[in-house]
Amino acid sequence: MERETTSFDPRTWVDPKPVSAPVEDVPEEPAPQGRPLKPLMIAAPVALVLAAGGAYFLWPDSAGDAGSVSAPVSTATASSRAETPVDATSVRIIEVRGVDELGFSLEAMGVPTGDAFALAQEAIAALGTEDQVRIAVELADAGKDKAVRTISAELPNGSSVKLTRQRDGTFKRDTIVATATTRVRSISGTINQNTFYASAVEAGLPDSLTTPFAKAFSFDFDFQREVALGDRFQATWEESVTDSGRNVVPPRLLYVRLETDSGSKAYYAFTPPDETEQRWFDERGQGNERGLMRTPVDGARITSKYGYRTHPISQRQKKHNGVDFAAPTGTPIYASGDSTVAFAGPRGSAGNFIRLDHGEGMQTWYMHLNAFADGLVPGKAVRQGEIIGYVGTTGGSTGPHLHYEIRIEGEPLDPLTFRTSEVEALAGEALTMFTTQRDTTKAAVEKKR
Ligand SMILES: [Zn+2]
Repeated sequence: MERETTSFDPRTWVDPKPVSAPVEDVPEEPAPQGRPLKPLMIAAPVALVLAAGGAYFLWPDSAGDAGSVSAPVSTATASSRAETPVDATSVRIIEVRGVDELGFSLEAMGVPTGDAFALAQEAIAALGTEDQVRIAVELADAGKDKAVRTISAELPNGSSVKLTRQRDGTFKRDTIVATATTRVRSISGTINQNTFYASAVEAGLPDSLTTPFAKAFSFDFDFQREVALGDRFQATWEESVTDSGRNVVPPRLLYVRLETDSGSKAYYAFTPPDETEQRWFDERGQGNERGLMRTPVDGARITSKYGYRTHPISQRQKKHNGVDFAAPTGTPIYASGDSTVAFAGPRGSAGNFIRLDHGEGMQTWYMHLNAFADGLVPGKAVRQGEIIGYVGTTGGSTGPHLHYEIRIEGEPLDPLTFRTSEVEALAGEALTMFTTQRDTTKAAVEKKR
């Protein structure tokens, strides 16, 4: 049966116009990708089920209650499959995340409460994702209640899944894998808004790449003081998208460049042999990583200054021992180097406070956090760049920011002038491989400019 391969493809879904009072607010399609929905029949999934015969039907037909039936559905079904009995079905399209949201949505559609949550649990388990998914639920009348026949969803990786309810209550799972095109894209822009994040998104950088971009420069620049309005940025990335414009795998940065008053830097992505994750190397194959990060917070979210701000503590004529990064509450904070957690908890005017031990008498301090990362307890080993907590304004603080200190043998150092110079350079075979890949990337960058 040919239709089986496409009939539950969510790319073809359109929201049915409910003829009775809607039971669920159907959210609009998320804006960022601007995915156009092709107008196509909603009838297809229903026809499919009917064509499969009565075997899957657990519920008695009910010809009544036409009010809940989407007119186009029943019409198309009846005419195309005249030999099978017409069944009162309707399709609802919702966006939900996790078991509870699906359970409540099914309940609101008229599925008995006990069934709704049991079904939701099975369905989410069968879909295999707790992420937000767009789901089409096919309902049949079952007395005064509604019963679920099929649940179809498009998964975050672009493939589609259809779950058909079996006689024994379990789901039969059918999957279609999305076909995708890989392409390389580039943007360049100027920081002309309050944050790098806003400027980069305006220039066309995918939302998900703003943080990795800023992180590539977190060793070189202090995003609070050295990145400002007028600075220029450039990015090249690879993406794999379906016909409908959905990313099959997350887009991946290939090249990043940042030009500021204090200098400019450019990096190429490269996965060294025997490693599994890409890292950043400059033109000559030198890594971007240093002993400590200069911006141990999601630099993309740091609010720009518009004139230097004065920290409330220094207004009270106290020595300011660190750097403040003004960022929205909840912005991730990173361990600035490989270390062990020495302290994580509330501590007077420091608010929620983390102290990391980097060995050889070196520590980094993080203050005023809104929350700690899960499982962050003294003695835990953390990797450079790992999220340890989230920006807040706890303790002696008048607005959300991270107060960051570097201390050696207890003595505070200026994080702005403190330089560690453990730059790793590629050599031998790895350098040869890097050079080849760098030139390929470079050609792509230049072609797109
Ligand atoms: Zn401070």
